[in-house]
Amino acid sequence: MANFKDKLVRFMNGRYGIDELYFGLIVLYIVLFFVNYALQRVFIIDLLMWAVLIFMIYRIFSRNVQARTGENEKFLKIWNPIRTTSKLTIRRIKESKTHRFRKCPHCSTMLRLPRKTGKHTVECPSCHHDFEVRIRL
Ligand SMILES: [Zn+2]
Repeated sequence: MANFKDKLVRFMNGRYGIDELYFGLIVLYIVLFFVNYALQRVFIIDLLMWAVLIFMIYRIFSRNVQARTGENEKFLKIWNPIRTTSKLTIRRIKESKTHRFRKCPHCSTMLRLPRKTGKHTVECPSCHHDFEVRIRL
């Protein structure tokens, strides 16, 4: 068993492995799987699923680490803003009974304010500018 592990380590030496794009591709594959299932198997989606699978495996064993890192960076450039926005949206919904979220008009920092209806003057903690906030409900 140790011999096999050594061989695997030696085999993977210099190869790219797993990154965020890999997990993104897994999610894409699962989404395609369910879409394909709902549409009762479409040839194009079948083909696309194979392409995703082959691309995933190819990236893990690739020795061109620089190219794979570049692909991952491009993916993260698209994915990170989506992740940040969706995390904030979930938080806004979760805390909607007690807090309101407002953007500072000077520095665009998102502020979490206690839910008190009416007009308030708020000082931004990051740029120290004052601005008016109206919380309706
Ligand atoms: Zn500010």
